[in-house]
Amino acid sequence: MRNVYFDNNATTMVAPEVIEAMTPFFDELWGNPSSMHTFGGQVKKHVEHARLQVASLIGADPSEIVFTSCGTESDNMAVRGAVEARGGHSHIVTTRVEHPAALSVCRYLANHGCTLTELGVDSQGRLDLDELRSSLTSDTAVVSIMWANNETGVIFPIDEIAKIVKEAGRILHTDAVQAVGKLPIDVRKTPIDMLSLSGHKLHAPKGVGALYIRKGTRVNPLLLGGHQEKGKRAGTENVPYIIALGRACELAGEHMEEQSVRVEALRDRLEAGILQTCPSVTVNGDRQHRLPNTLDVGFKHIEGESILLMLDDLGIAASSGSACTSGSLEPSHVLRAMGVPFTSVHGSIRFSLSRYNTDEDIDYVLEHIPRIVERLLEISPFTEKPA
Ligand code: PLP
Repeated sequence: MRNVYFDNNATTMVAPEVIEAMTPFFDELWGNPSSMHTFGGQVKKHVEHARLQVASLIGADPSEIVFTSCGTESDNMAVRGAVEARGGHSHIVTTRVEHPAALSVCRYLANHGCTLTELGVDSQGRLDLDELRSSLTSDTAVVSIMWANNETGVIFPIDEIAKIVKEAGRILHTDAVQAVGKLPIDVRKTPIDMLSLSGHKLHAPKGVGALYIRKGTRVNPLLLGGHQEKGKRAGTENVPYIIALGRACELAGEHMEEQSVRVEALRDRLEAGILQTCPSVTVNGDRQHRLPNTLDVGFKHIEGESILLMLDDLGIAASSGSACTSGSLEPSHVLRAMGVPFTSVHGSIRFSLSRYNTDEDIDYVLEHIPRIVERLLEISPFTEKPA
């Protein structure tokens, strides 16, 4: 049986080059970069090199990169740190389709004295920029809008968003966890104030991330208790993982073109094949403005989980946009915000590719998926059966 991994928006394989780069920091260079002695101190220059590698991928200055433990921490620090730096109770703007890493902290702060505007999206997952413009007030501490959606892959027009937010003199944070490494990003051209990224979405291990903070942006730290990261993020640095993140960012830059040409072509072939061979299937999200690796499709009248289980039996890993981790059949908040009809929201499946996928992977999925869908439609209580 073949193994096909199409769940790269959930997590990615650690690249062999990344493992190679990080390994010496477990068994040779395991000192503490803050130590005064040479044994520890020599590690510091490697951490600084990793900072440069991360900064280079997004056009930042290395001094603007703060290493964190994950994308979730970066999102929390950006939103909470900006609100606290402004003295607490204030206004936050976000969208209804953010990842919970950002949405939950916004809602938490709303329950603790802030006011919150959650911008809606249309049926294609697009924002109304006029609504964004009119939501901004002199009390807005931070606007947190993702660069690309983890479920549908829909890319928000971040240049226009940044222009609007900066014209209003407000701070813009973007959760770019799904965009970094897949799309060209240059913070010298796009006036974002803060940007979150996560290692395990770009072939580094789970448990490391970074927050870009533009020079001059006022953000309070989330973690207190040490001088690390220039006092912006206390805690002894996770050196091997920081090295891994640096190397993964370097590789992501080298593979960017491949991502947008070869991986996109694979994704498009998968999409065309599914649309051709499966009845009553629709693509969720704006196909014109979408990550090159992501395909989210809704199969009408069948349960996404059943498709996933049958795919899993064949060695194919994808994910469902419809269920939450608790196992309840609560539909995805992203698809609900888009108004995806009930009949296909439950049958939504996300395929997310990486540079490690091949044409043979696509052939394998396309060989099996029509039969799976046919079988499930036969037993679906929602489809009309011949009398
Ligand atoms: N933001 C987005 C858009 C994501 O897709 C994810 C993870 O799926 C996160 C934030 C959280 O990142 P991490 O898993 O590194 O905490």
